[in-house]
Amino acid sequence: MPVEASLLEILACPACHAPLRDESAAQTPELVCDGNGCGLAYPIRDGIPVLLVDEARRPA
Ligand SMILES: [Zn+2]
Repeated sequence: MPVEASLLEILACPACHAPLRDESAAQTPELVCDGNGCGLAYPIRDGIPVLLVDEARRPA
């Protein structure tokens, strides 16, 4: 289930406030931060993005 585009527009990374890239079509649906040196990936659970730094996956 894709995240609504209108919702995605207002979402920003809580860590660095950069825009988030919609990876909801991936095997593990996530919103990925495009911020320089950030790159946190926030999980999407039941179509709802979980924008918590504590829940985010850190880039390798
Ligand atoms: Zn970020």
